[in-house]
Amino acid sequence: MNAWYAKSVKQVLGELETDRERGLSPAEAGRRLERWGPNELARQRRAGLLRRFLGQMKDPMILVLLAAAGLSLWATGGEDWLDAAIILVIVAVNACISISQEDNAEKALEALRQMSAPLAKVLRDGKEIRLETAALVPGDIIRLEAGDLVPADARILTAAGLRCDESAMTGEPVPAAKAPVGELPEDTPLADRRNMVLSGTVVTGGRALCVITATGMDTEMGRIAGMLLGEEDSQTPLQKKMAEISKTLSFVCLCVCAVMFGAGLLQGKALLGMFMTAVSLAVAAIPEGLPAIVTIVLALGVQRMVRRGAIVKRLPAVETLGCAGVICSDKTGTLTQNRMTVVDVWTPRTGERALALTIGALCSDAALIRAGREPAAGGDPTEAALVVAAAREGLEKGTLEEQWPRRAELPFDSERKLMSTVHQKADGSFRVLVKGAPDVLLGRCRMDEGARRRALSRNEAMALRALRVLGVAYKDLAFLPRTLDSATLEQGLTFTGLIGMMDPPRPEVRRAVEQCYAAGIRPVMITGDHKLTAVAVAKELGICRKGDLAVTGEDLDFMPQGLLEQEVERFAVYARVSPEHKMRIVRAWQARGKVVAMTGDGVNDAPALKAADIGCAMGVAGTDVAKGAADMILTDDNFATIVSAVEQGRGIYANIKKAIHYLLSCNIGEILTIFLATVLDFHQMPLVPVQLLWLNLVTDSLPALALGVEPVEEGVMEQAPRDARASLFSRAFSLRLAWQGAMVGLLTLTAYFLGEYVLSDPGEAHAAANTMAFATLTLCQLFHAFDVRSERASLLHIGVFSNAAMNRAFLIGLVMQLSVLCVPPLQAVFNTVPMSPVEWAVVLCLAVTPVVVCEAAKAAGRAGARRVRRVPGARRAPLYTGASKGR
Ligand code: ATP
Repeated sequence: MNAWYAKSVKQVLGELETDRERGLSPAEAGRRLERWGPNELARQRRAGLLRRFLGQMKDPMILVLLAAAGLSLWATGGEDWLDAAIILVIVAVNACISISQEDNAEKALEALRQMSAPLAKVLRDGKEIRLETAALVPGDIIRLEAGDLVPADARILTAAGLRCDESAMTGEPVPAAKAPVGELPEDTPLADRRNMVLSGTVVTGGRALCVITATGMDTEMGRIAGMLLGEEDSQTPLQKKMAEISKTLSFVCLCVCAVMFGAGLLQGKALLGMFMTAVSLAVAAIPEGLPAIVTIVLALGVQRMVRRGAIVKRLPAVETLGCAGVICSDKTGTLTQNRMTVVDVWTPRTGERALALTIGALCSDAALIRAGREPAAGGDPTEAALVVAAAREGLEKGTLEEQWPRRAELPFDSERKLMSTVHQKADGSFRVLVKGAPDVLLGRCRMDEGARRRALSRNEAMALRALRVLGVAYKDLAFLPRTLDSATLEQGLTFTGLIGMMDPPRPEVRRAVEQCYAAGIRPVMITGDHKLTAVAVAKELGICRKGDLAVTGEDLDFMPQGLLEQEVERFAVYARVSPEHKMRIVRAWQARGKVVAMTGDGVNDAPALKAADIGCAMGVAGTDVAKGAADMILTDDNFATIVSAVEQGRGIYANIKKAIHYLLSCNIGEILTIFLATVLDFHQMPLVPVQLLWLNLVTDSLPALALGVEPVEEGVMEQAPRDARASLFSRAFSLRLAWQGAMVGLLTLTAYFLGEYVLSDPGEAHAAANTMAFATLTLCQLFHAFDVRSERASLLHIGVFSNAAMNRAFLIGLVMQLSVLCVPPLQAVFNTVPMSPVEWAVVLCLAVTPVVVCEAAKAAGRAGARRVRRVPGARRAPLYTGASKGR
């Protein structure tokens, strides 16, 4: 490896053939990309198609089935070859469906990973652009600032206050100070290479310009990447539970099948036939697809959420979203538009307005991108507003900077709430310019009590108008102090004035806040801004309601955690807080049993984002670190997006529940049919093995998946959040599964009974009865899928055909089933005979019965709920029981 840290900057730039002012040209970068490959760590390769196909066959039940088919083939001397072939085909088709489903889920997850991947700030042809980190090449000049993930190994060219957390690489817990120092000895250990930044580490403070020396697997990170291959497996609680339930159900199924097999033997039925039936039933009834369906529904739901601006990074967050009881949101940019305009400038001494605006413009990193009558600036919106305000009065930042070149700086951080820059005057002396939160800044200024009080009251008056207020101040220095820090630069200042900025609320947030309250979710504002500004905005948005209180970070410092936990429900606004307060607020709400969503953007927000049940990072304003720590990224930084994500989360959970409802009630129906037929000693099984397997193919995956993509039902945001600890299988839900399954089973047996004893000619009875049972069971399930589409609402209300996927699933199932019932060659294969019109009529009547009965049951349930609601106060009570129990 090349020891870049041991060379001079000039040597490094020369060897990498790059220019520090212009960076590489796109053409050269393209050539290098081809030569060095993308800036990525190698990933584990996926297994090949055949491997995965065989993997599917490893399922023990499938193996038993194949063995049974082979056995039957051998026992009958090859007579049953058609059955065996059909079994093989069905098993193969099933495996293909599973593989394609897994593929879809995998692709969806990969797309998400890419969307949440960080972008790097790169100089190409003299212009700064944002690029995917994979496109970086050696020789690229990159800009780093607090919160960035270092995208590649790089040599530092210039830096101000740069600190990097390299614990991932060196194990050193304290962030390392970095600087563009000259050559270091060749044997300098990794942890001491102060002039380098390392891929995969995090910038915790300051900023820097660097030149990339190594990318991808050539980085220090790449060298140890072998250890990191294979991503963490993030199964959602629901997925885990489904895998478990699937196992339990498999066990139950197997027991039932074994009992059935035993009973059949006792009754003197043919051993092999009985065995085949038992195994086919097990394959049909075991919900082996359940975990996959849960994954797919989650992944599809996540894709839908992306279209609405929320990128969910970890699937478990989707489930948790539905349980969210509190949303703690930043103010600036999330509740407001972050479109700042300076509307008020106040200076205690007359004639200092221009000085105040000059400080605002110079002590900022925003740049004027258009001068003239309609000036515009780019960068942090707060700072851009200052630059624009100055330009409006003829103080263009570029000209100012020529006059007052910047020699040093202390970047803004939300803990200190100040920013300072040091400029050199024409006579060689220096002036420190400081801007920041007025209450903090005034504490650093030399002034008498009266003046301080006047300034503070002026600050409050502006804040009451919902303005964001910045104070500006300066101090002259003959020499630059040896150490440049807050103690040397930001003390003994001369106060210059206050600048008030308007930041209008986002128009959609008001409705989102209302939705929150209706949905039993508490919106809370957490901001670094002044208390009065915060309250004014919170009132305008409806977050702060009668009886709600606002507290400041200082108040929190004096409040023990126990007291905060007690009082937390009264606080709607937290002002002037620093990131570490966010952590305490999250913990306090969690102690009250609430599931907390919390927004954040800065480096210091990461711990709170991790601690929250749903950490939401800002996609636009957020740092890589915040995005890395979060569960969800808001592409538009909007509060309303969180609320819509919660709505989606609730909808997705409900849909998964529907898919489970459908699959399990159908499987219960299948088991019951065969089980009762055995126990009641029918002299022939109502369904033959191939029919059972076919049934599994027609009714299992497609309708269940279609239920998974049901549109979110209206009214989901009028219910209290789901209790995260409550089991999916509540008493009511289990009961519903049981009676609906029993109904399906009994209807099938009825069809068989009618076919055998009532409708058919004596000679053909078996075949006709068998066909009727087969048709009834399949069609019953296809129809049943429709009434499962809503737990409460009537099918007519949600619209019979409003789910296109369901219509498709139904049609495909219907065509498949009709073809095995009506097409002669298939009839032979599937053991069916043509049905008479009367038989068809009976089958159809029986098949639609579940829809009619289930719809009637829902209607009765709704009528019951209406009666309860008419009792005064009853509407609120059931809404909040779940929440209040947790206390
Ligand atoms: P939120 O937490 O809702 O996003 P915020 O953006 O006001 O609110 P911070 O960014 O932590 O929170 O800012 C806190 C305070 O620091 C602001 O109220 C403002 O007074 C001051 N401030 C913000 N940006 C700057 C800056 N670029 N330079 C100097 N001071 C700033």
